[in-house]
Amino acid sequence: MNKNQAEIIGDNHISSSVETPMVSEAFKHSDDEKIEIIQHHFKKIMEELGLDLKDDSLSGTPYRVAKMYVKELFYGLNPKNKPKLSVFENKYGYNKMLVEKNINIDSSCEHHFLPITGYAHIAYIPKEKVIGLSKINRVVDYYAHRPQVQERLSLQILRELQDKLDTKDVIVMISAKHLCVSSRGIKDKNSLTTTIEYGGCFENETIRKDFFTIVEGENL
Ligand SMILES: [Zn+2]
Repeated sequence: MNKNQAEIIGDNHISSSVETPMVSEAFKHSDDEKIEIIQHHFKKIMEELGLDLKDDSLSGTPYRVAKMYVKELFYGLNPKNKPKLSVFENKYGYNKMLVEKNINIDSSCEHHFLPITGYAHIAYIPKEKVIGLSKINRVVDYYAHRPQVQERLSLQILRELQDKLDTKDVIVMISAKHLCVSSRGIKDKNSLTTTIEYGGCFENETIRKDFFTIVEGENL
């Protein structure tokens, strides 16, 4: 890919697939080995920028960045960190909408490695299975902690929940701010990006509107 294509794809935030593109040997190194290797490369980046790595304040930065990438920002790349999503039998027969709103989104744009922050609002209509409320947050958290594009993040969360809950009746709405839009490029400080993905009975406009009414409603 030439530099021009790279700029075009980055500024348009184009994603190529629902799955996060990964190489087959993505986890042949342990986390500690990854931290060591990334530390080495990040040091080179800082040196090329002209920074003096002998300075006390800077000398630990390559290690901190490497550890942050592997353990904090991008731990959702590794399937071993996928949360256990136990589901339960829907014994009480609740079969109306359940909405979990204002779930924090802390993610990173895969085109610029800058933060994406905002909220996810999720609903489902249970059939035979229900899931613990905090597990919905954990699904969001896991998929957000990868280099992402917002559309893919929405789809990955939707598919995971549809799969675990054994129903298509799930909706995922994300509103987020992209630092790569507010701090560089067009430098728009106020724009928010909203994505909505859904299936099953959320195809029905009335049901979707019920969801939006709840999401827009007063917080406690
Ligand atoms: Zn970006």
